[in-house]
Amino acid sequence: MSINREPDPTLPRRFVPSRREFLALAGSAGAHLALMAPRPRAARAAQTSKIVAQEAWGRIEQLAEGVWAVVSTPLVNNDWTTLCNGGIIAGGERVVAVEAYGREAGAKWVAERSRELTGRWPTDVVITHYHGDHANGLAGYATEKERPQVWLTAKTLDLIRKDDARREFPLGTVRAEMLDGARLIEPEKSTSLALGGPTITLHPRRGHTASDITIELEEPSVVFFGDLLWNRLFPNYRDTIPTAFSQSIRAGIRGRETAYVPGHGPRPEAGDLESYLVLIDEIETAGRRSFEKGVSPAAAAADFELPESVSDWHLFNDSYFEVAIRAWHKELAG
Ligand SMILES: [Zn+2]
Repeated sequence: MSINREPDPTLPRRFVPSRREFLALAGSAGAHLALMAPRPRAARAAQTSKIVAQEAWGRIEQLAEGVWAVVSTPLVNNDWTTLCNGGIIAGGERVVAVEAYGREAGAKWVAERSRELTGRWPTDVVITHYHGDHANGLAGYATEKERPQVWLTAKTLDLIRKDDARREFPLGTVRAEMLDGARLIEPEKSTSLALGGPTITLHPRRGHTASDITIELEEPSVVFFGDLLWNRLFPNYRDTIPTAFSQSIRAGIRGRETAYVPGHGPRPEAGDLESYLVLIDEIETAGRRSFEKGVSPAAAAADFELPESVSDWHLFNDSYFEVAIRAWHKELAG
């Protein structure tokens, strides 16, 4: 499977689990709950989101009063302005932007839409993890008058700085100053932020990287999953701690109707979360089996077949199977 720009990877797709897939899913509490959710309700939730902005690189969907998802579509036009997904959550006192995107132009576009949609420039920015496609565009939120408060974990800040130290072309002093002034999210317990109306919770998790954050609302029920959740795209395992990844995904899935915003790909519709869990588990099986038999990640990747339920999913990069199996071998080797 290679990167495929036709058809649009954001198009909806239906998935009915086979008996084998159902049995595989039934082993996990989170997946079981997700399967129990009535499908018509899930479909209705998806239909109620309204697209309020659309560009070559992505779109903004309204999920509820004061809550929007940014859904990037980098593979549609090969436009990487925003690259990752994110969002905007508005209260009477504060407006939180989720993620800093891959480029300053992406963050600036989101901030401008925030002003249109909420009347305010973002007051705060939460960065879910250190990867450049979520963190590099930070300075795009800065203007002469505005400097939103950045929130991230100490671990994420450390990893961003290590990445920055290796950069041939520095990302500028404004970004560095914003990072220097960041508020650090507690690594062991969740942090609540009252926005004046809605309260959001920042949940420290791990697995996609050594430090990931999910941004969550209770009512309406919304989870911004960061890169713990990929939808219709094969996840990137380059820094993944596979057992923690699987546990964090399952811990974040709720047993009630919820709008999930993945780190990449369109928002999941009925069946998509189940497909994702099947995929994660199949990668685990391939990783463990090849490790036990002494088969190299490259050879195991060459033999890896996508589960049928995700056979139309896309890859950002052809190496992703091997990267995933290598992550399992690394963890199993201790
Ligand atoms: Zn990432």
